[in-house]
Amino acid sequence: MRASAPETLVIIGSGPAGWSAATYAARAQLEPLVFEGAISEKNRMAGTLPLGQLALTSEVENYAGFPAGNLGAFLESALPAARRQLMAPHEGHGVTGPELMELMRQQAVNFGTRVVTDDILKVDFSKRPFMVQPADGEAVFAQCVIVATGASANWLGLPSEERFKNRGVSACAVCDGALPRFRNKHLVVVGGGDSAVEEATYLTKFASTVHLVHRRDALRASKIMAQRAHDDPKIAIHFNTALAEVLGDDKAGVTGVRLESTTEKGKETKLDVAGVFLAIGHTPNTAFLDGQLELSPTKYIVWKKHFRTDTSVEGVFAAGDVADDYYRQAISAAGTGCMSALDAERWLAAQGVH
Ligand code: NAP
Repeated sequence: MRASAPETLVIIGSGPAGWSAATYAARAQLEPLVFEGAISEKNRMAGTLPLGQLALTSEVENYAGFPAGNLGAFLESALPAARRQLMAPHEGHGVTGPELMELMRQQAVNFGTRVVTDDILKVDFSKRPFMVQPADGEAVFAQCVIVATGASANWLGLPSEERFKNRGVSACAVCDGALPRFRNKHLVVVGGGDSAVEEATYLTKFASTVHLVHRRDALRASKIMAQRAHDDPKIAIHFNTALAEVLGDDKAGVTGVRLESTTEKGKETKLDVAGVFLAIGHTPNTAFLDGQLELSPTKYIVWKKHFRTDTSVEGVFAAGDVADDYYRQAISAAGTGCMSALDAERWLAAQGVH
């Protein structure tokens, strides 16, 4: 038996979609409860820590309203000292991913959003009120749920990649690139999209050379980003090349890579490198839904109505990268977060709940 009345709205996820949904919902007096994810080693390795993928990036140049400039004083005034202390000092550039996310979180909190720093392990959307089960604590019931759990980085699945994870193999340059083991060394980035170029460019701050290894003959990255990689003397691009094996030993960790040509059978090269960074796309964080919402063949939540955030279960909405395999931008995630809160508010009103 439930002891207390169900929540009006639970939001699962804490990227731009989750916080935008929370800000809109809180201003609409829906008193949202956000599960922002747990701070754990498991989530660090999976790339699912609170604040989402943006917390793992460097400067964000394309989020409207944040031109490069000195945001230091603004950040000091907008964020509580305790959370500001967790962040690097601002050095007069554009807003960084972690700064943007802290600002979004704070904005939602300012309007009364309650935040639980925990994962949701499972849900029951088969009846209302819906049930969400946190990792730590009792099940929570809610009239309405917004799923905004985003997506996380893919791995190649090589045994050698697994062996050297955390010892020279990483899927997050911004998290790990500054480690002493990578300083003034040769490094490899695998991938050809914006993330790969962004990671390679970021790593040039520390590395002597960054080898960008891409399986095709052209980068998928946007023109401006691709041009940056081509123009950077510290980035060497290896087209038509795949990572076949990460080389190393238990003492030193990664010491090299074996690369193979994707166009010439049997052609292999070895490079001495101290680090391997994967930037080969993302998988939506939908496993915890256990088939209760309709998913696409690539496991993204399916939006069931044109230009709405409705899922296959009435009263459950989805926002951000967990449902968007096409735009996948911070600003589009924030946009669908806003839409999901408005959809939720209207649906709750139609139910006579709010
Ligand atoms: P992405 O655009 O899907 O690119 C993934 C890259 O990894 C592709 O080049 C792909 O190769 C390669 N790849 C995938 N699986 C592979 C495998 N098994 N082995 C080798 N290579 C593999 O992903 P993303 O770069 O993470 O970008 C995701 C979205 O975020 C995009 O919409 C992007 O524009 C956006 N983003 C934007 C910015 C920015 O604007 N600053 C920064 C980062 C990301 P193929 O090309 O052969 O498919």
